[in-house]
Amino acid sequence: MEQLTRKAYAKINLGLDVLRRRPDGYHEVKMIMQTVDIYDTLTFRKLEERELSEKEKSSTEPVIRIYSDHETLPCNKSNLIYKAAALVMKIYEIKSGVAITLEKRIPIAAGMAGGSTDAAAVFHGLNELFELGMSPDEMKGMGVTIGADVPYCIMGGTALSEGIGEILTRLPAPPKAYLLVAKPDINVSTKFVYENLHADTLSYHPDIDGMAAALKEGSLKGITDRMGNVLETVTEKEYPVIARIKEEMKKAGAENALMSGSGPTVFGIYRQKEIAQKAYGILKEQGLAKQIFVTEFAASCTDER
Ligand code: ATP
Repeated sequence: MEQLTRKAYAKINLGLDVLRRRPDGYHEVKMIMQTVDIYDTLTFRKLEERELSEKEKSSTEPVIRIYSDHETLPCNKSNLIYKAAALVMKIYEIKSGVAITLEKRIPIAAGMAGGSTDAAAVFHGLNELFELGMSPDEMKGMGVTIGADVPYCIMGGTALSEGIGEILTRLPAPPKAYLLVAKPDINVSTKFVYENLHADTLSYHPDIDGMAAALKEGSLKGITDRMGNVLETVTEKEYPVIARIKEEMKKAGAENALMSGSGPTVFGIYRQKEIAQKAYGILKEQGLAKQIFVTEFAASCTDER
């Protein structure tokens, strides 16, 4: 195979708890992860020998060319796509180069794991393109060195995530529902949020075990009643627009609404599509969010197209 295309889906956190800050600075989390039907599209193509410069041919670095339709996202070594591809190509000593084209649709710095899911798609994509035969566990082990959410993105669907994000347990998908996803026009750094979180003095912890039980029972009410995210204590305080969007979503008929990950994206869960669509119109009109989607839960993080 010379070329292939994969979708890289975004995630939301139906529940996010932080148990403690470890001495090494990492935070121990307990989260319910859920893939949603908002995705980037990555195309992978093997570079032919004649496309490489003499310098590239003699270089010990892997040849990775990234092209993107996004205005500001750097296509250099800082891109998680590059980091994931370089790791695979070094370990498997892949000599031929690769061109990776990214159609970016997932909001950036949003709490939706946009970079992590692109990296996960790279593991899947290069595994197929170069017929490497990597197992999901092998990919997850490599993925966690790129980012804590990457192992989950390699797996996708609904999962309990523990440790720093590398201990994953598959859960049943939630019952069908409609989601309104809205990102206000601010970018939030995950690092800033965790650095300002007071993990040891949190007065509230969401009932993650109860939510896992509700997923097993297939109870949408059991899920929406338990939605909670301790990172809101930092991001919502900094950006009051997050609380306003949540309020507006609920006023417009959401069962519940929550910030995803470190934010600032907010999602609302609706039983009926028409109500979600109406809420979309209301939010658009209010101008509180720049990027707004009506979407659904999805089953996996990276799909062949
Ligand atoms: P998370 O939910 O995992 O915290 P996020 O949605 O908050 O992720 P990302 O969109 O993954 O954040 O981006 C965080 C930063 O990573 C951005 O500022 C961006 O410059 C950088 N980055 C590197 N590669 C990518 C990529 N392929 N897509 C998006 N961002 C990337």
